[in-house]
Amino acid sequence: MKHLIQGAFWLGLYVIVSLLPLCVVFLGPRPPGRDFITELSVALGFVGLAMIGLQFFLTARFRHIEAPYGLDLILRFHREISTAAFLIILAHPALLFWRDRSFELLNLPQQPPRVWFATLSLLALVGLIVTSVWRTSLKLEYETWRVIHGSLAIATLGLAMGHVIGVGHYIADLWQQILWILMGIASVTVLLWIRVFKPLSFLRHPYEVTQIRDEGADVYTLRCEPVGHEGFDFDAGQFAWLTLWDSPFSIEEHPFSMASSALETEFLEFTIKELGDFTADVHHLPEGATAYIDGPYGAFSFERYPAAGYVFLAGGIGITPIMSMLRTLADYGDTRHLLLIFAAKQLENLTFREEIDALHDRLPHLETIYVLNDPPDDWDGEQGYVDAAMLDTYLPEYPARYQYFLCGPYPMLINVEKALLACDVPTTHIHAELFNLV
Ligand SMILES: Cc1cc2nc3c(=O)[nH]c(=O)nc-3n(C[C@H](O)[C@H](O)[C@H](O)COP(=O)(O)OP(=O)(O)OC[C@H]3O[C@@H](n4cnc5c(N)ncnc54)[C@H](O)[C@@H]3O)c2cc1C
Repeated sequence: MKHLIQGAFWLGLYVIVSLLPLCVVFLGPRPPGRDFITELSVALGFVGLAMIGLQFFLTARFRHIEAPYGLDLILRFHREISTAAFLIILAHPALLFWRDRSFELLNLPQQPPRVWFATLSLLALVGLIVTSVWRTSLKLEYETWRVIHGSLAIATLGLAMGHVIGVGHYIADLWQQILWILMGIASVTVLLWIRVFKPLSFLRHPYEVTQIRDEGADVYTLRCEPVGHEGFDFDAGQFAWLTLWDSPFSIEEHPFSMASSALETEFLEFTIKELGDFTADVHHLPEGATAYIDGPYGAFSFERYPAAGYVFLAGGIGITPIMSMLRTLADYGDTRHLLLIFAAKQLENLTFREEIDALHDRLPHLETIYVLNDPPDDWDGEQGYVDAAMLDTYLPEYPARYQYFLCGPYPMLINVEKALLACDVPTTHIHAELFNLV
């Protein structure tokens, strides 16, 4: 309920701030002799500009804003709403072309600087969208893309502000000036917060890597202990951004789920599978190395959804947030019915299998089903893929009384979600974590 109210509050605030610039157009003194099309075009331009400004807030990882939705939902909204903002902004010049029945505004050498600002801002926005939508086709590494993305976002907003000041119609009154200055200050503050104040705070709250455990099959667990501070509390299943080898001012940080129990206050553990350059180097870290951790984030946690029991469906390294939930439930001494269906390619990819088997002593109603795609000859567990028929065999008698947590590769999530729905699991009871935010 608390998250529902918070969510409604932030959504309402988002709508109000997006539409606030309309007050500037419709409440303030209007330039004389302007037709409706011009005013509509200006109004749409302002709404689009406010939406672009708000994107900085959406991606700044403010925990209060993120908490009700989870970061992946916020980032999805950020992506979808940028297309809407782009179309709204595009309508601004389109209406002017239509009004003039001419494209003279595109004849840039004949145009004043304010039109140049507008054109360059729009081009920066196009660049922003193209590099984001086609990042993998353009073979842009994540870190390179992040630098490009941030630079183009600042350019889009800065050039658009240059355009507004150049046009000068809506900055005449004191209250209009105050509004624009406040919006400008807010955007700059967010940038300073992300790039300066937050990293400074991490510098004062470092962690030490005190243990690196080989879990087999190119998976390693890092234990990180807070140095000179208490660390942070988290809900089992949440994740954090990890910076290793670098200062907290570095652009390179990677998201990982906490795998340790949420009741463990001495340390955090992350279990990481080798995938690319960052994850492949993790086990080369010397013990005693410094880590910076930004968290917790995410809404993927049983703590949020009270239920008669829980069903966990993990694929491969997707076991990490689920392991945190199981360890936490064991620490609570939970006696509810828990079902874990853990699918992996081969036996060695069932990370934590021994510990999970041992957890049955502490979780009396834990049921575990292992599923292998490529099992050894003497395997007597399930094999193949998790599908509706398999779920039908193992799901509890009253599926609607349970909450369901899925984490694994994208194709698995899609298929398992469909299968759960086919087994009469209510859609609102299904919670998925995808290890890919971009
Ligand atoms: C919420 C969440 C929780 C995760 N938890 C775990 C976990 O517990 N254990 C685990 O092994 N993996 C986890 N991952 C995946 C992990 O973040 C990526 O495997 C890792 O960032 C890849 O980095 P790389 O440089 O080694 O590989 P690369 O080959 O450089 O990247 C592979 C892909 O990972 C994504 N990626 C790379 N860098 C970043 C970044 N800085 N931020 C976001 N995405 C990035 C991109 O889609 C990229 O295409 C999680 C991911 C998310 C989003």
